[in-house]
Amino acid sequence: MAQNSDFCSVCNLYLCPLLVNPNNMKQKVAVVRREHFNAAHRLFRKDWSDEQNTSTFGKCSLPNFHGHNYELEAKVIGEVDAETGYVMDIKKLSDLIAEKVLEKFDHKNLNLDVEEFRTLNPTAENIAIVIYNILRPHIPEQNELYIRLFETPRNYVEYPVAPTNFVNPKS
Ligand SMILES: [Zn+2]
Repeated sequence: MAQNSDFCSVCNLYLCPLLVNPNNMKQKVAVVRREHFNAAHRLFRKDWSDEQNTSTFGKCSLPNFHGHNYELEAKVIGEVDAETGYVMDIKKLSDLIAEKVLEKFDHKNLNLDVEEFRTLNPTAENIAIVIYNILRPHIPEQNELYIRLFETPRNYVEYPVAPTNFVNPKS
């Protein structure tokens, strides 16, 4: 017969995973919010010739800009709070991205409308770094933040680089 002590004091479940292994409370979990924005850009360097820009950036260097459907994933990693059961309230993460990133990037011309890209080429790499730097100060210090940005369904970048995301081909 179940004793009182067999019920978890956090969630009140009989033999919950935390009760069976209290170390679970210290285990880290990743929460991910996926968002979407459309934006136009042109990849080029003012100090390069048209030929050099075209040979380096291809169609992304066409002078009249073009658009992408960007998919953004913000991953927050941290310990599960014993009281709330959350790593971070994902609604707060969603609101944060909407207010700080989507408001700034969605339906914008990145080269012309977004301060950070006045002098910075708006490649997927640089956009991911800019988004990370915008969001990082608003994420609880003890949590890790990772950005994944899809420029097309087949091309995406990640920042910062998490070594565990990579499979060693020799192993
Ligand atoms: Zn492009």
